[in-house]
Amino acid sequence: EVVMRLNGVEKFYNKGLANEVHVLRGVDLSLSKGEMVALVAPSGAGKSTLLHIAGLLDAPDAGEVAIGGDVLSGRSDRRRTNARRNDVGFVYQFHHLLPEFTALENIALPQMANGVGKAAAEARGLELLARVGVDHRADHRPAALSGGEQQRVAFCRALANAPRVMLADEPTGNLDPATSDQVFDALMELVRGTGLSALVATHNMELAARMDRVVRLEDGVLVQG
Ligand code: ADP
Ligand code: ADP
Repeated sequence: EVVMRLNGVEKFYNKGLANEVHVLRGVDLSLSKGEMVALVAPSGAGKSTLLHIAGLLDAPDAGEVAIGGDVLSGRSDRRRTNARRNDVGFVYQFHHLLPEFTALENIALPQMANGVGKAAAEARGLELLARVGVDHRADHRPAALSGGEQQRVAFCRALANAPRVMLADEPTGNLDPATSDQVFDALMELVRGTGLSALVATHNMELAARMDRVVRLEDGVLVQG
């Protein structure tokens, strides 16, 4: 079962101007259900651009993005916003948790915004936190957590609304090597435990090798391995 498909995705910046950049030149990618794919690229190659387009935050200049068989590029803003909220979970290098709310509230709030009641949202939040081993920190605000704990909470928040796909941009890039390994283990555990598909950009080749498949962004196209 294909969960996300990119077909011939192209992206320009400053199109038609002297400083035009043709960042993506026909990107094709299929993510199967439960598949974890590493996205490897030198800095500036366009991996953030690719993740933004895959996550419907940005539109391609050509080509298609389909999630769960629905082609979403070219659809209405409302349709894409809905798909982004329900089907895609984002994780960044820095956690972007809301500082004035606790870890648990950070995971419950996106669910409540989607109409889930407080008790159910908190129960799911606690269950997710337990899977990554930070449920004992549920009532702390992000500033009181270690970097690794913050990032594990951010993974849980990304999964709060049970998306089909997780898109992660250097999720362990801001952590020291030992913490990075632990946090990556937690990410694997979450992804494997939920049947989620994930596209994870990383510079860490050891972590990349632990995923199901590695794709490399080179000269605007994806090559295997
Ligand atoms: P990466 O995430 O691999 O470092 P990016 O997707 O951020 O790469 O950027 C790819 C290329 O596109 C870079 O040369 C970058 O400078 C350029 N770029 C990214 N965003 C913009 C933008 N909004 N306007 C102009 N150029 C951009
Ligand atoms: P990341 O740390 O994810 O690689 P980037 O530095 O690639 O972040 O990009 C951060 C933001 O700045 C993105 O929204 C990107 O589109 C924008 N950006 C990146 N390069 C340029 C550029 N050369 N000109 C304008 N905006 C850019």
